[in-house]
Amino acid sequence: MKEQKGTLFVLTGPSGVGKGTLLSRVLPTLDSLFLSISATTRSPRPDEQDGVHYYFLNRGQFEEKVRNGEFLEHAQFSGNYYGTPSGPIDMHLARGEDVVLEIEVQGAMQIREKRPDAAMIFVAPPDFPTLEARLRGRQTEDEAAIALRLQTAREELKQIPKFDYLVINDDLTRAEEELKAVFLAERSRTNHRTFHMS
Ligand code: ADP
Ligand code: 5GP
Repeated sequence: MKEQKGTLFVLTGPSGVGKGTLLSRVLPTLDSLFLSISATTRSPRPDEQDGVHYYFLNRGQFEEKVRNGEFLEHAQFSGNYYGTPSGPIDMHLARGEDVVLEIEVQGAMQIREKRPDAAMIFVAPPDFPTLEARLRGRQTEDEAAIALRLQTAREELKQIPKFDYLVINDDLTRAEEELKAVFLAERSRTNHRTFHMS
């Protein structure tokens, strides 16, 4: 049995829902699954490193990459640009390795159009007050940024029916198991595999 080409996974959901937390727990348990590193014009948080968490660019640098067609998708979110560099993704997929993008909803919708084979996963909070509490509890944004992210979240949640999978992040361990099950199920699809009887 041999993998044909890699699978592209898109994980989206409102800011503060726990996408990063879930991925940081599930990724180490799966082989050959690469997390795409995005570019952004947002300022780095104290614990973030350039080239590890994001490629931190200024607006001019970001816009030049857009003009050069270097992004598979890009979007404006909460006053900053975010984009997925396409080069590393195509390289991994061609090698038969899987890639996961952790991006916001407008970008996810662009991927759905461009790469209809992508497995689209939405992470939702159990309820709105929980989302608000998590976003506040993270202490990475000021009040204005939190308010904007929550307002955006209400619109993002309306897009859930356009996704293939919905993971509700209530209990972390249960949500983590569910997310891992999605990755494993997608990897077993016949169109991602070839089978030769010997
Ligand atoms: P996102 O990447 O979607 O913006 P984070 O992974 O940064 O969200 O999570 C936001 C906050 O919520 C973090 O402080 C994280 O520790 C917390 N969190 C994530 N998932 C859960 C959960 N299931 N239960 C309680 N807290 C959680
Ligand atoms: P944060 O500023 O909290 O790191 O990210 C804000 C939002 O931007 C999150 O929902 C995150 O998933 C999303 N994001 C991160 N990278 C990208 C990207 O490359 N493209 C898009 N469209 N969104 C991204």
